[in-house]
Amino acid sequence: MIQQFDLGDVVQMKKPHACGSNEWTIIRVGADVKIKCDSCGRIVMLDRADFVRMGKKTLKKKETGTEA
Ligand SMILES: [Zn+2]
Repeated sequence: MIQQFDLGDVVQMKKPHACGSNEWTIIRVGADVKIKCDSCGRIVMLDRADFVRMGKKTLKKKETGTEA
C-alpha cells in the first residue's frame, strides 16, 4: 500500500504495466489519481482507494529526490 503520495512521486504498483515497466509518475491527485507509465507514457486513472491498495511502494519522492 502507498499511504502517502504527492504529485510528481515515482511509484511502483503491485502489477507491472503491460509494457513491462513498473515505474509510474503521479500526474494528478484528487478524488482520482492519475499515473503515467514512465516507459511507454500510457496514462491510467484510478480511484484514490484503488491506488492506495494497488500501490506497492514509492521509488522517488518529488521533494527530495532520494531513493525510498
Ligand atoms: Zn507502460
